[in-house]
Amino acid sequence: MNDLTCIIIGGGHAGLGALKAMKDTTRNMANGRRIRFVLFDKQLGHVRKVLLFRPAASGEGIMVPWKRWHSEGIEFVQGTVKSVESGKKLIRYTDAQGCDAQMSYDLLVVTVGSIVRRPDPDQGGIAMTDPQAAAHIRERWRANLRKAAGESNLEERKRLMTITVAGAGISGIETSAELALAMQREAVALGLRSSDISVYLLNAQERLFPEAPEKVGRKLDQTLSECGVTVLHGRKAMREEAGVVKLNIGGCLAAGLCIWTIGLIPNPVLRGMGLPLTPDGQVLVDECYRVQGMPGVYSIGDCARIVDPRTGKADQMTCKEGGLQATRLGKIVMADLKGRPAPIHESVMDVFCIGMGESRGLLWARKWGLDIIITGKLAWKAKKLAWDLASTLR
Ligand SMILES: Cc1cc2nc3c(=O)[nH]c(=O)nc-3n(C[C@H](O)[C@H](O)[C@H](O)COP(=O)(O)OP(=O)(O)OC[C@H]3O[C@@H](n4cnc5c(N)ncnc54)[C@H](O)[C@@H]3O)c2cc1C
Repeated sequence: MNDLTCIIIGGGHAGLGALKAMKDTTRNMANGRRIRFVLFDKQLGHVRKVLLFRPAASGEGIMVPWKRWHSEGIEFVQGTVKSVESGKKLIRYTDAQGCDAQMSYDLLVVTVGSIVRRPDPDQGGIAMTDPQAAAHIRERWRANLRKAAGESNLEERKRLMTITVAGAGISGIETSAELALAMQREAVALGLRSSDISVYLLNAQERLFPEAPEKVGRKLDQTLSECGVTVLHGRKAMREEAGVVKLNIGGCLAAGLCIWTIGLIPNPVLRGMGLPLTPDGQVLVDECYRVQGMPGVYSIGDCARIVDPRTGKADQMTCKEGGLQATRLGKIVMADLKGRPAPIHESVMDVFCIGMGESRGLLWARKWGLDIIITGKLAWKAKKLAWDLASTLR
């Protein structure tokens, strides 16, 4: 009997999770047919997007070659998928050589994720969009510190030793903490005073992490301050020009670099893929992640609009949510193949873990109306574990 081809488009956190879950539940077999898994991604390897601040701060690489996940029954194709033709059950893609090609599927999982939101080009600064942009950020702040070491004008030296991070979600918090610590280390190596490093985190809200109790916001503020980050609440960056960041409430900050970390939007590639989308550009799926009107096609992760049918609550764009969807998807696909009732989506409990440089972290969970808060080394260890689990490295 012919193999059953299951294509996964996108080897990000959700795509790798889906691959693992489907392999584990099916053991590469369904109804007497061998399942051939084919993972498509436009990149050379898996980008650990949750660690995007690492190339910006320490220069650490965050791409893991696909061979790390190689095992029997899995193929990797480097290619950019352009469209899905559900009538013919095939995908069209451009391969690594730039040639157009197509491949037929029996099952298809769309996990093309999200992209980091960019400000308008005239707003200046650098958006931390991908590993290349992150590496550019590192080059820029290191060059500024080298200039600062030879600068006699105190005001200019201070400006060169200052960074503004605009956007105080998890990525802004983690980025500002890791940058402050990395810049302090570099300053010492260059004979500058580490205490002269300034990192401002601009938070549009009145406190950090408003979805959690006030206590969590206060603890985050305190930990960031220990790292050398000053959080400015109720302030947004409007634009950066010639080393000056203009603020929404008037006034400005002199900074050698302005970094934007202003959230995620669904991958714009979805607009041309031929899948049904919400007005915001996420794939429309049912409570079992099946794409509407497309038999055998599923979608999870940041690119899909996934709603708990009991509560009406939509999942956020996070790895935690994508990971749990992936685990459930394995069972759903198996059930659909066997013609059995499939499990339906349930939203997860509130739990967030934030890392703020070595040995510093904060974990907050809410269960049965109780708030659980863990800080320090234990929270940092939990965060490291979460990063590894998100990339199925454990
Ligand atoms: C700096 C930062 C920090 C974050 N921190 C956290 C955190 O602490 N906790 C948390 O839960 N979440 C965090 N997130 C969010 C988290 O990264 C996303 O929720 C997660 O990456 C979503 O996974 P995904 O697989 O759906 O999408 P993605 O990770 O975006 O993966 C999509 C994959 O699809 C591939 N792809 C895209 N288009 C195509 C195409 N046309 N053809 C082929 N392949 C394609 C991409 O190359 C990529 O590999 C953070 C995000 C950022 C940017």
